[in-house]
Order: sequence, then C-alpha cells, then structure tokens
Amino acid sequence: MSDNVRVRFAPSPTGPLHMGGVRTALFNYLFAKKHNGTFVLRIEDTDQTRYVANAEQYIVDALEWCAIPFDEGPGRNEKFGPYRQSERKDVYKQYAEELLANGWAYYAFDTAEQLDAHRKDHEANGKTFIYNWHNREKGRLVNSLVLSEEEVQQKIAAGEKYVVRFKTPQDQTLILEDEVRGTIKIDTNTLDDKILFKSDGMPTYHLANIVDDHLMEISHVIRGEEWLPSLPLHSLLYTAFGWESPKFAHLPLILKPVGKGKLSKRDGDKLGFPVFPLEYTNEKTGDISRGYKEDGYFSDAFINMLALLGWNPGTEQELFSLEALVEAFDLARVSKSGAKFSPDKTKWFNQQYLQQKTDNELVELYLPILKENVIASETKQSFEDKTYVQKVVALIKERAVFVQDFWDLSSFFFQDPTEYDPKAAKKQWKETTGELMKELVTVIEGIEEFSIENAQTEIKGWITSKEIGFGKVMQPLRLSLVGKLAGPDLFEIMTMVGKETTIKRIQNAITNLG
Ligand code: GLU
Repeated sequence: MSDNVRVRFAPSPTGPLHMGGVRTALFNYLFAKKHNGTFVLRIEDTDQTRYVANAEQYIVDALEWCAIPFDEGPGRNEKFGPYRQSERKDVYKQYAEELLANGWAYYAFDTAEQLDAHRKDHEANGKTFIYNWHNREKGRLVNSLVLSEEEVQQKIAAGEKYVVRFKTPQDQTLILEDEVRGTIKIDTNTLDDKILFKSDGMPTYHLANIVDDHLMEISHVIRGEEWLPSLPLHSLLYTAFGWESPKFAHLPLILKPVGKGKLSKRDGDKLGFPVFPLEYTNEKTGDISRGYKEDGYFSDAFINMLALLGWNPGTEQELFSLEALVEAFDLARVSKSGAKFSPDKTKWFNQQYLQQKTDNELVELYLPILKENVIASETKQSFEDKTYVQKVVALIKERAVFVQDFWDLSSFFFQDPTEYDPKAAKKQWKETTGELMKELVTVIEGIEEFSIENAQTEIKGWITSKEIGFGKVMQPLRLSLVGKLAGPDLFEIMTMVGKETTIKRIQNAITNLG
C-alpha cells in the first residue's frame, strides 16, 4: 500500500472514552503505523446538547496512557485544522448549499409537531413514518420539492426554521464494500432522507463527518459496527459531491462476558471490572468510574488484550508488544462477529506482563506501596535495602496479577505477623505444638551460619530424629512466620528475615497461640 494512508479517530466528547472506543482508536493507530500513515484525532462536537467539558481532555489523556498518540489533532500538527468540528462551523454551510444546488438535497420546513402528527398517523395504521421518496413529494410534507422557489425563499427570509435533507435516490441498489464485511447490498428505498444541516447553522454528524473526512484526506474510515447503518448515506454523499470515497471498515462489537449484547458500563459495575481506560469523575454528579490504569493494569497489557478483541493474528500467539501488533495487524483478520470480553483473560494478560518485567522494574513500582505500608515497621531498613526488596519480589511475583498484590504476598518479609489465620491455627497448632516450637527455637539458636542449606539440614535432621511428621513442625512454623499457611519456601523466608526475627516470631506465636 502507498504511503498516503490517513485514518482518523473521531470521537464525540460526550463522556469518558469506553474501552470499545479505545479499541477503535487502537485499530486506527495500528493500521496507520503499519502503512507508514497518519493517525488523526478529530473531535466531533457538533451536538452541543451532549457536550461534556472534560471529555476531550480525557480522550487525549487516555490515548497518551495507552501509548497510541495521534499524529495530527487539536493542538498538534494542525495541517488540516482545526480538528474540533465546533471550530469548523463555517466550513459546512457551503457544502450543504452545494447539494441543494445540484439537487442532492432539499429544504424541509416541517415542524416537530407536524412530524410527530405524521408519526402518530402512521402508527395508528400500523406503519412506520419514514421521511423519504414515499411521501416527500406528496404534498403533506412541507419542503422545497413541493413548494415553489419563491415560497421557499419567503419562508427562509421570514426566519422560519428549516433543515436540509438528503434526497436519497429511489429504486437503486447500492453495492457497498466494507473491508471487514465484504460486499453489502442496500435498496435505497429503505433509507430515510437524513438531515444534513439545520437553520441554526450547524451541520449534523453525517455532513460534518463526510466533509471533514474528505478535507482531511482520510483514506480509510475504521470505526465501530454501530456506524454501519450510516454507510449507505455516507457512500451516497461521496457520490453526490463527486468525491472519491475512502475505504470503510466496520469493527465488530465488544460483547458482554456472557457473550450476548454490547458491553456496557453496567456490566462492569455488576461484575467488578472497569470499562474505561482511566478513572473518570462525572462533573455533574461527582460519580467516579474506575479505570484500568488506577486498577493497576499495565497499559501495554490492556492494549494487548484489546487488540485481540475482534482481531486475530492467524496463529496461537497471544502476547504482542505494540511494535509486534503494528507488524502483525491486518484488516483482513478483523472478524465480522462480536468479540466477547473476558475480565479473567484481561487479568491474565496483566499477569503475563508483570512476569515479563525485570525484578528491578518491579522493585521501582513496588517501593511507593511498600513505603506506605511499612511506615512504623521495626524492619524498616529492609525496604530501604533494594537488594532485599529485589529478592522479595523475585520470590513472590509469580503469584501476583498486579503490583498492588505484592504487599499481601510479602508483608511478612517486612514486618512480623500481627495476627494468625484462626482456621489454620485451630488445625495446625495443637496442644503439644508450643513445646515443640520451644525445642525448635533451641535448634535454630544452635545454627551458627544461618543459610538455607544449614537451616534445612539442622531443622529437617531434628524433625527426623524426633520421628514425627514434617507437617507437625513446618505448618506451625509457617504460621509463626507468615501468620497464615501461604507464601514461598519457608527456609527462604527464615533466612531472609534472619535468625533473630525467626526466633522472635516463633516466640510471639507461642505466646499468642499457646
Ligand atoms: N463521532 C462519531 C462517534 O462518536 C464518529 C463515527 C465515525 O467514526 O464516523 O463515534
């Protein structure tokens, strides 16, 4: 493909960007980068009633966090700017006029009440009212197809409200091409004459979208499936203007974890996962929606997960860096059917990315959490010793999905347990355990060089000589050191916290558990 691939992500700033929107942005980004093209961000804010002030910044921040920055957009390489439709208002009128002049559009003066009455009339007869070739020239509707030129001009001069509607051709079969769905045939008689422009000077989405895609030299329109019904009109608009149409690709829906229906914020609230990349505060209600970032996901894991929602590489490979995605991405491998979202799989991706990080990177991520938790600990020096923290991280990371899990998995490396899991205590700490543990303390005191090897030899030797099961000692010992029956190898723990602390913890347990 040539080097002039230009794609755009064109969100309406009506609230936080849903992860479906991020997936659309991602596929645009991948396609652009794959073909050395340009990724444009255009803010489609013509509908002022739905405008939300902090939404645009949210979108920009989200793309930034995901590391899929736009090449052109508001405030960045404004080659075809402005990139906010509200700042392009003056551009659209002439295009509406062009369509009026060449017969592809007409003025309509029907009031909301009149249209409502038509709708009700139709309903009463079991029909649906559609403003199109059926009725537009029958005289019941008030438009420039039935009024004289003079009447039209008079109405406009008198300040009557009007809209400009697209004059959908009658009795045609449109053959549309979609990069994902192949050929789609549409009978134009089923389409309604959509509004393109209003007398308040504002274009509707359809007109602004097509005009901007043309002026911004967009080569491929990659967007969500919900826009597929607009494709016939958009394609006709290109014909009407005599412009070359971009190629279209409509991405499949992201489905609920159960597999049916579009994934919504409600699903996230119900099942406990975020649907937004970043936390979002609704300025009006103060409601806070959680975000992947704040929930502790790595952005590259989130992106990797999203890439596989509706696209597959054709192999079993699941882990892809952004560069690898760019390399592998192909619209031909985008599926037609909806892609089921899985919160568990998303966690799996995070876990994989966590394991791939070096221990050093993980230490840096863990330190702030550690500092918050260990403020008053006696073993304070341990977390200031990076080598120690690094050893801890190496021992526990495979059990973690998030860096936030580290504290739960490793607090005992930094401070003595403050409580003992009651169930485990009941089961493992028997009447004779206290005596055994006292003996164990003596054994440990006798180990001069407290290495894993020495501790193992001495303790295991002592247990064998007593002819008792290992569990009888090792389980209470674990309880003493960790507070619960979890954690990595006990000898690792003992030698990490040291002989003194090990003894102290056993004595604490004897005092507390008897
Ligand atoms: N403004 C539309 C949206 O909010 C853009 C649709 C398109 O990409 O054509 O998704």
